[in-house]
Amino acid sequence: MIRAAILTASFSAVLLAQGLPETAADQARGQAWWAHVKALADDSMRGRLTGTDDYLHAAAYVVSQFKADGLKPAGIDGYYQPVKFDVTRVLAEQSAIKLITDGHEEPLTLGTDAILSARGQQPKSISAPLVFIGYGLHLPEAKYDDFDSPEVPFSSLKGKIAVIMNGGPAELPGALKSFARTSPLAKALANAGAVGIITIPTPKSMDFGWARVASSASQPGMRLAADPRDAAVAAAHPALEDIRTTMFAATFNPGEAEKLFSSSGHTFAELLALADAQKPLPRFAMNKSLSATVTTENSQVESPNIVAKLEGSDRKLRNEYVLVSAHLDHLGVGAPINGRTIYNGAMDDASGVASVLEIAKSFKRAHKRPRRSLLFVIFTGEEKGLLGSRFFAGRPTVPANEIAADLNMDMFMPLFPLKKLHVQGLAESTLAVDARAVGAEHHIEIAPDPEPDRNSFVRTDQYSFVQAGVPALAMKFGWTAGSPEYKAWRQWLAQRYHSTEDNLSQPVDYAAAAQFNSFLADLARRVADDQNRPHYVDSSFFHRFEK
Ligand SMILES: [Zn+2]
Repeated sequence: MIRAAILTASFSAVLLAQGLPETAADQARGQAWWAHVKALADDSMRGRLTGTDDYLHAAAYVVSQFKADGLKPAGIDGYYQPVKFDVTRVLAEQSAIKLITDGHEEPLTLGTDAILSARGQQPKSISAPLVFIGYGLHLPEAKYDDFDSPEVPFSSLKGKIAVIMNGGPAELPGALKSFARTSPLAKALANAGAVGIITIPTPKSMDFGWARVASSASQPGMRLAADPRDAAVAAAHPALEDIRTTMFAATFNPGEAEKLFSSSGHTFAELLALADAQKPLPRFAMNKSLSATVTTENSQVESPNIVAKLEGSDRKLRNEYVLVSAHLDHLGVGAPINGRTIYNGAMDDASGVASVLEIAKSFKRAHKRPRRSLLFVIFTGEEKGLLGSRFFAGRPTVPANEIAADLNMDMFMPLFPLKKLHVQGLAESTLAVDARAVGAEHHIEIAPDPEPDRNSFVRTDQYSFVQAGVPALAMKFGWTAGSPEYKAWRQWLAQRYHSTEDNLSQPVDYAAAAQFNSFLADLARRVADDQNRPHYVDSSFFHRFEK
């Protein structure tokens, strides 16, 4: 096995990478890429919400492109892999929450103070004491556990609503803190017998202001519907187990969070200062209860992943697959922003799907096929919690142990020239060696995520494959803190991310997008041609999920 020290050996060589000049050919290929974005993010696609006909129209476009390029269908029903979802819509006007301190009731305003989650199964009504458990990280493997402290022992969480903040102590790696926000949190809550969870985001960790968080509360939440293969998936990949307990779940506005702490002997300001400094947080009973009635509307929808295959050239290795993936779904039609109600999702993630299509086409046209097979996979349900990729990673349409790697693109942000890529999963597997080698050829610096507290590692589809033990990377255009590129990125998040402004009238560097597509195609080819299959490094926490 390759040690982490070797992974970083080629890093200094590419530190001075400045990107390649953009050529006329890049411009032309950039336009071809943009033509797909224009089709998928057009108003007629109405934001491609999972489970809608609009999503199916977009899916039909993708399939028509795969067909025209002569790629083989590799789903269940042709190119499609059907996925079923349980849908929950929270009716905020028929729901209510209040705080209770020593019998004194303080009604809260949904939307202003907090929003109710639609992701899981909410109880119809609840009344329970609040207990603050810091960051809510349950990582006994790393000898860190906010769920079990002398102040708040594990056994005392039964029947309580746990209150947590985003972030974590500096000594824990970013990817590990992000991992703890997913299945370990759900499992720890269920095992402790907690009845609810309130999450307080820290303003520093938020991509946009509370107003947009609040307007997203009317969106339907989804989870994978129960499937006959669930037990087998959980046995094979414990991290992919779906926890289906009924649990009160809300997100609290950090601007109003002092209300929660008023009788606890602590202030939110004091806790926020600790969290911003990545210091340990205290755990304590809050001497307050929360009471809520939650009204939801429930339904079921079906929405497919799309899978196309390019057969490899090597008689043996062609049975293994390198995945190139992106997600097709976005947020649909919702609360108006700047007078518009269609959330087009041009960058998020029509851009990534367009790249998969262009990369697939370039492989089909190439004289030489890669040795392993390539699988081009377009996911549904990403915006609902990486659900399409989660379904695929647990129930792939090719033999599960033959998936060699996943290379995922999710709003890779070609807003400025390509000099650097921020890569998720760089510390975890030998794919880092490949990314750095191909980066050097393309004069692109390959760097880890400089903002791990945004939890990007668990916020895009490559993470479903990490949970299934498959080496995986996801990447975005990188920047240097304080640079004009950094400002463009932050401004994009604040103004366009998950807003109606992520539409077709935004400045995009087409040639840089084409250069990115070339980089990714070369990376896929290198991984597919390598006699050795990629694998997790011993130093990676996620090594344990590998079969
Ligand atoms: Zn998104």
